Amino acid sequence: MTADRDIRSELPSVDRVLQASQDLVSRCGHRRVSEAIREHLRDIREGVKTGQNPDWSIPAVHSAINSRLSASDARGIRPVINLSGIVLHTNLGRACLPAAAAEAACQAAMFPNNLEYDLETGKRGNRDSHVESLICELTGCEAATVVNNNAAAVVLALSTLARGLEVPVSRGELVEIGGSFRVPEVMESSGCTLVEVGATNRTHLKDYRCAISTQTALLMKVHTSNYRLEGFTHSVDEKTLAELAHEHGLPCMVDLGSGCLVDFTALGLPGEPQASEYIANGVDLITFSGDKLLGGPQCGIIAGKKSLIERICRNPLKRALRVDSMILAALSEVLKLYRHPEQLTETLPTLRQLTRPAADIEAQAVRLCAELASYLPHPFRVATAPCLSQIGSGALPVETIPSFAIAIESAEGRDSDLRSLATELRRLPRPVIGRIHDGSLLLDLRCLDCESLFLQQLPQLRDALSC
Ligand SMILES: *Cc1c(COP(=O)(O)O)cnc(C)c1O
Repeated sequence: MTADRDIRSELPSVDRVLQASQDLVSRCGHRRVSEAIREHLRDIREGVKTGQNPDWSIPAVHSAINSRLSASDARGIRPVINLSGIVLHTNLGRACLPAAAAEAACQAAMFPNNLEYDLETGKRGNRDSHVESLICELTGCEAATVVNNNAAAVVLALSTLARGLEVPVSRGELVEIGGSFRVPEVMESSGCTLVEVGATNRTHLKDYRCAISTQTALLMKVHTSNYRLEGFTHSVDEKTLAELAHEHGLPCMVDLGSGCLVDFTALGLPGEPQASEYIANGVDLITFSGDKLLGGPQCGIIAGKKSLIERICRNPLKRALRVDSMILAALSEVLKLYRHPEQLTETLPTLRQLTRPAADIEAQAVRLCAELASYLPHPFRVATAPCLSQIGSGALPVETIPSFAIAIESAEGRDSDLRSLATELRRLPRPVIGRIHDGSLLLDLRCLDCESLFLQQLPQLRDALSC
């Protein structure tokens, strides 16, 4: 207790530190800096009580507070370098927008705009009008609306069309996509009753037929995305299911997940269901994400029959799930790129990254490998290595794309060395995200489009590792 009192008289006052910290005040504001000073002085007093010997000179306190504030400032959203090998990484923000789309979002954010204003008539407009005709043109649907994400699209569609009613779904499609999207739970939260149909591996048309009752609202299929049944399996295709639904005067809905708008196999990529095929096959309503294979901003698109879309848009939930002008501006620019599908592998970052030739990535790996090796101290060994990238975001993880990585091993075979290196890479001003696999830290270069930025940070990485 006496020791504590002694220190109190010796410690600088909050005001004195504050006076010496005007640089921090102009950066973080008076209140935040005063709080940080108080917290730090409290820590010093606690430290002394427990027998430590902290430095409480003004420069030392200033520097400690500077670090404290920098650490809390670093908590916002920051750009990173995605060398994880997963192109559409949900934890890393999925699709990167093309510059024109980002610019459109920026303009929409900075200025008043015609979000819900018809410039022709001067009357109230409809926010979906900015993208609806593009979606119709690209999918062949009659009408469309946009909400916050595909999960919201499914919930909104089901709670509009099936609340209090039954929805038969194949047992083979009652999947969890990740990020807590589980088909049975989504159905429950939409207020409809799931009627399980068929067996896990095999579902037949007669199973759906038997499940239809006077309480049935619609028939639904879910694209199982990152999960596949192999062997003795059977499922009912959407065309046959839509015919059955129509025989009973019911709509047929499909949750496509990614729902791409071009033929992926023509680009040399694993086949993915195309939105237009489902519409052409008679499906009345499809839902898909904007920021998966479509390569746009986070949103969920609902497309299909006009009468159904109209009902969905009248649901008060639509108001809660609608998107803002930045998203609509970006989405509209991305959709316009699809009018020139032959250019998409250049104009759309997601497709550019997915179709980047392995030889091109290998050349980059060779170029960067020597450079990186010269900055990585003992015990690290650097080499190039073939690897496999994943599409990510619910696309099948077994469908991989050949790629190239810089593979870093510890000469002493210690995983802890690799983990420290991964940590220091994440601490760089533009954090670099790799993955540890089979005793190496792999930096898959498929998505490295800011090579000079990566190189510029290497001296800093070396300094961090050598202290
Ligand atoms: C990804 C996915 C969802 C969820 O989409 P979000 O845009 O992440 O909300 C729903 N259903 C399927 C089949 C998916 O693949």
